[in-house]
Amino acid sequence: MTIVSKKMQRIPSSPTAAMSDRARALKEKGQDVIRLSSGESDFDVEEFVEQAAIDAIKAHKTRPSAVAGSPDVRKAVQLKFKRDNGLDYDLDEIIVSNGGKQILYSALFATVDPGDEVIIPAPYWVSYPHMVTLADGEPVFVACDHNANFKLRPEQLEEAITPKTKWMILNTPSNPSGAVYTKAELEGIAEVLRRHPHVWVMCDDIYEHLIYDGAEHHCLAAVAPDLKDRIVTMNGMSKGFAMSGWRVGFAGAPKELVKAMVRLHSHSAMSMNVVSQEATAAGLNGDQSFLKRNAEDFRKRRDIVVAALDRCPGIHCHKPDGAFYVYPNIAGCIGKTAPSGKPIETDEDFVRELLDTEGVAVVHGGAFGLSPYFRVSYASALPELEEACRRIERFCTALK
Ligand code: PLP
Repeated sequence: MTIVSKKMQRIPSSPTAAMSDRARALKEKGQDVIRLSSGESDFDVEEFVEQAAIDAIKAHKTRPSAVAGSPDVRKAVQLKFKRDNGLDYDLDEIIVSNGGKQILYSALFATVDPGDEVIIPAPYWVSYPHMVTLADGEPVFVACDHNANFKLRPEQLEEAITPKTKWMILNTPSNPSGAVYTKAELEGIAEVLRRHPHVWVMCDDIYEHLIYDGAEHHCLAAVAPDLKDRIVTMNGMSKGFAMSGWRVGFAGAPKELVKAMVRLHSHSAMSMNVVSQEATAAGLNGDQSFLKRNAEDFRKRRDIVVAALDRCPGIHCHKPDGAFYVYPNIAGCIGKTAPSGKPIETDEDFVRELLDTEGVAVVHGGAFGLSPYFRVSYASALPELEEACRRIERFCTALK
């Protein structure tokens, strides 16, 4: 007998956290481990943002705000959507919450009925399918491999939609592939959506500011304003602003949905942490120039990692336009045997053996719904990345 509900029993723990735990255990045993498995920016939070939080504490801002967020923070989000994305949202179409994660989960929970389907292009961020399951929905996966630059094509979307489809999830730039949808590609998706007015779109734009080589971030709601009344535009401070521990997510969405999410939060999360709200308002209203500087730094790291991994025998490494991940294909390593004698039959075998023999922690593609790949987070110091790539090359060269 277990106290844990049947629903919860269907939810495994996070594979990225499992990899981090395994890496930590090896480190504690004295092994030299490089962790490229987590999805955290390695930049510090900007000083002016930290100062706003300090000021809020000093001003004794300790009581919860309105559940949807204080007027100040919602005005800052409103300004951000207008300035960066050309989107107009009224204040009652905006909600802030404890991380993008909570926004996505609450929006699904508030709308999905048992049996409703949610289309998730693969590879996908690990939490999407479990959020859908927790909301009693059915995830429907559509594979988008490297030959399609990991992007969903309109005809694939058309084929995946059924009368039961409630949502599709669109994540650009993508975790784990780094894929960035162009305006034309979003127009193609919008064309399909116009034919299916019962389908809503959850746009996860959290990596918006991490974009390279002149690629541009486009919000579906701006590309197809006629669909805005069934789009959630979700974003947050975890990636570009490096504030992942401050737990800030926000969204622009139709009023009725925001109201339902506020009702849900009033019985569960309450308002977002008020100190983080003050810091978020300062961050969004303040000087944004550091975002481009940080992105340029990430671009350099990406170029070095892509070139180094693409040299490894058996690996093909696609060059992504955004986020801080690469998602190399390892079809050429599958079927080989490691020096330990262990066969490499799956990408999970590959990452486990890589960690055990070379001390490099990455996450297998199976965790993101598309194999055989693995995800490398390059949000680490350059010397560490270079050393990790040397070890991966040595590992691949030793496979027979
Ligand atoms: N969406 C994607 C694609 C992510 O990778 C993450 C975090 O890793 C999130 C949403 C949620 O971020 P947070 O809850 O820190 O805002």
